[in-house]
Amino acid sequence: MKKINVIIAMIAVFTVFAGFGQKAKKTDKKDIIDKSYQMRKYAKVKLTADISHLSDNQKEMLMKLFEAANLMDEIFWVENVDEKDAFILGINNKKLKQYAEINYGPWDELNNLEPFIKGYGAKPAGAQFYPSDMTVEEFEKFDDPNKTSLYTLIRRNNETGKLECVWYHDGFKERTEKAASLLEEAAELAEDEGFRNYLNLRAQALLTDDYFASDMAWLDMKDNLVDLVIGPIENYTDGLFGYKAAHESFILIKDVEWSNKLSKYAKYLPQLQKELPVEQAYKNEVPGSDAQLNAYDVIFYAGDCNMAGKTIAINLPNDERVQLEKGTRKLQLKNAMKAKFDKILVPISNELISKEQRKHVTFDAFFSNTMFHEVAHGMGIKNTINGNGPVRKALKEKYSAIEEGKADILGLFLVTKLNEMGVFTETDLMDNYVTFMAGIFRSVRFGASSAHGMANMLRFNYFLEKGAFTRGDDGTYAIDFEMMKEASNELTRKILILQGDGDYEKAKAWIETEGKISEQLQEDLDRVNKKGIPSDIYFKQGPQIIGLK
Ligand code: ZN
Repeated sequence: MKKINVIIAMIAVFTVFAGFGQKAKKTDKKDIIDKSYQMRKYAKVKLTADISHLSDNQKEMLMKLFEAANLMDEIFWVENVDEKDAFILGINNKKLKQYAEINYGPWDELNNLEPFIKGYGAKPAGAQFYPSDMTVEEFEKFDDPNKTSLYTLIRRNNETGKLECVWYHDGFKERTEKAASLLEEAAELAEDEGFRNYLNLRAQALLTDDYFASDMAWLDMKDNLVDLVIGPIENYTDGLFGYKAAHESFILIKDVEWSNKLSKYAKYLPQLQKELPVEQAYKNEVPGSDAQLNAYDVIFYAGDCNMAGKTIAINLPNDERVQLEKGTRKLQLKNAMKAKFDKILVPISNELISKEQRKHVTFDAFFSNTMFHEVAHGMGIKNTINGNGPVRKALKEKYSAIEEGKADILGLFLVTKLNEMGVFTETDLMDNYVTFMAGIFRSVRFGASSAHGMANMLRFNYFLEKGAFTRGDDGTYAIDFEMMKEASNELTRKILILQGDGDYEKAKAWIETEGKISEQLQEDLDRVNKKGIPSDIYFKQGPQIIGLK
């Protein structure tokens, strides 16, 4: 889900390098320079969740977590542009102020980081992680083993003018110390032992910038009802080198019911692997029954993750040492998904799905398709069957698009099989299929340059060729259930064989010819985009919104 941000960060590097070294200039007057800053790009959503099952202690604990998360938000402002208050002060236009808050600064994240407030130039590629007047050459000559650490700021020494490393826990001393003590206070209120242990270790981590032990503890806990992601996590905001992690926080309430369902389905995966529509050689591997996939309602986004486009799934931790030892946990953010479904997918469907089939676009289908996409990543084949090594290596830069395509179509295969077995009966299969189709439009709405976008176009064009859907004269699309089911099986087969053979040339040729948006589809997408359907969402969030305080 962070892929979009990667692209934005890459664009940022290209567009900003030209002006690199010149700090964003400020003037006293903060006016709108670009009237096209559009609040309507974002739909407002209240971030709510049911917390009635939590004890008073747990609710009190949540209040501490909100406070700690707010501190991450404040730190992120400084990393991205400046102290929030200093920046916001003097922006009088209410809408502009709101837009600046969504973007955590004066640069439009959904429009190539164009400055939208008078007096600001291009965004510095390295945000505020580095001195504004530092050149790449100067950084390369700077001799300090900690300069590439995720957790150091690069600053200029006041007296000597030379570069120096400042650890986050020193650079943001007051705020990290406050956050650490809040986590310790929260730990005392925590009822789940694993969560208590994690909070204490995370507090230590904030004070030392060594996150290893807390990451390990985070993966160890299983039964906690409340979860928290906090600290410097992702490195996309550092568009200069990608070395520096930005502060953020998510506060989460586990969806126990869905999480239990997922572990139930996980038991069937080895059996379903055997039923994949390919020859035995392509399905010899045994999938792990990944229990670290859980559903949550998120009640707070702070800092980096709250800027501009919102993620609806998290996969952490990023530390490869931890990943090797314990793997990762995938968190699906159900209420945020629902918000995007309501505000974006449904309006798109109203334009592009045939009138008769629109009723089959449902959130339950959207959510289960997304969940089984994640499950499907763990199935199929990881190593080629002909000595070409791991699929990832054999398919090189085409791997991501093919693997995302696999997860999508194999996810639908899993839904179908589990439904036919009578195990997954929560949704009508027709809903899953029509919603799946609507999801394609959502993914390619702004182009097909990302791995996800390409994967969706490969599938759209394959379905078209196989007659899985038809386009009516009114420019809406209707699926043919039986034909789509058959085409899905064939496409699953095609991708699994491609992966098992590790056939790079074939993957490349396929993406080059079929990974594109046709003229007709582009016209249909243009029609949608002219309707002013939001690109993303922003939140009204906090203790009051979930009924605390
Ligand atoms: Zn995926």
